Amino acid sequence: MKLIFLGPPGAGKGTLAAKAVEILTVPHISTGNIFRAAIAAKSPLGLKVKEILDSGKLVDDETTIGLVRERLAQDDARAGYILDGFPRTIPQAEALSGFSAVDKVLNFDIPDSGVVERLSGRRTCKKCGVNFHILFNKPEREGICDACGGELYTRDDDKAEAIRKRLQVYRDQTAPLIDFYREKGLLIDVDARPGIDEVVENFRKSLGV
Ligand code: AMP
Repeated sequence: MKLIFLGPPGAGKGTLAAKAVEILTVPHISTGNIFRAAIAAKSPLGLKVKEILDSGKLVDDETTIGLVRERLAQDDARAGYILDGFPRTIPQAEALSGFSAVDKVLNFDIPDSGVVERLSGRRTCKKCGVNFHILFNKPEREGICDACGGELYTRDDDKAEAIRKRLQVYRDQTAPLIDFYREKGLLIDVDARPGIDEVVENFRKSLGV
């Protein structure tokens, strides 16, 4: 199954994706994770995008589309994938439809107050990118990733100023994708406010998986 997870930052796309990959046995492709890995590796891509990510703005469409096109051409993504954080603009969505046919788009619905609460308490693994939360999803050992033992940190773009910027960028550039995909009959609305177990349950029901 080829899925897009669409929604504001902090809606729980990555958290659900981590569960959904086990249910669907498809890869989780997060453009944010790919950019952060490039930054950590200090690769040419990483050096180019570091400031952009820190500020909460979007990386340019050409770079992002090229990256996803290459990733989707890999063998493990042939039968299906979960795209998390892509597309984020109308040109990205139009480009994607030229190289892959998406089955469904899950629209994660959450008010801004929920986003701020989740992002400001979020802690991310430096090594594998898995997210935790200081109140709602605590790791077993403080500061350590349950999945791989990596160190947890607060992303620069999860700090107050960048959160405001990212919400504005979402409203201006990404929210128009809701109508774009609704008009194509691909959109499924997901209430992203409950805890992860309930969201997983609703995900299973709405896709019949
Ligand atoms: P995320 O982890 O999805 O919140 O993404 C973190 C940051 O990576 C975003 O704030 C952007 O700077 C960049 N980014 C991720 N996905 C995209 C995309 N599809 N288009 C442009 N920039 C992106």
